[in-house]
Amino acid sequence: MSAYDPNNIFAKILRGEIPCFKVYEDDKTLAFLDIMPRATGHTLVIPKAPARNILDIEAEDLAAVIRTARKIAVAAKAAFGADGITLNQYSEPAGGQEVFHLHVHVIPRHDGVPMKPAASIREDMGVLKANADKLAAALAG
Ligand code: AMP
Repeated sequence: MSAYDPNNIFAKILRGEIPCFKVYEDDKTLAFLDIMPRATGHTLVIPKAPARNILDIEAEDLAAVIRTARKIAVAAKAAFGADGITLNQYSEPAGGQEVFHLHVHVIPRHDGVPMKPAASIREDMGVLKANADKLAAALAG
């Protein structure tokens, strides 16, 4: 497995070098919207600590990511009227990973609605901003 690359795009988001549609942050994790959502409200949860994927993350950092993913799931169900939630996590190219800073996908789902293909359609920035605000409000409430 390759070493962690501090120049990956999520590391740049963590350092504030590129923007994101943030929905939640605590001392160990950051959550922001996926810009090519597989469903409305598709959120990524990442650890602040450097970790490439499931194969090198410290257990406490992974626990923090899962705690945040649960918060996002509960809030997203309310914010988007979801019937269910899909969690995805990909590790290494063979596992489908494209960005090499660990992330958990939290994807709100509706009965009978299939997910769009991964990383297929870049969402409108105004739609992402509105969805981020809606989710952040549900998290705050
Ligand atoms: P994967 O590593 O296979 O889980 O895929 C990376 C995910 O990150 C894809 O769903 C992309 O749409 C998403 N993504 C890539 N760049 C950004 C970005 N700058 N902001 C938010 N999501 C991103």
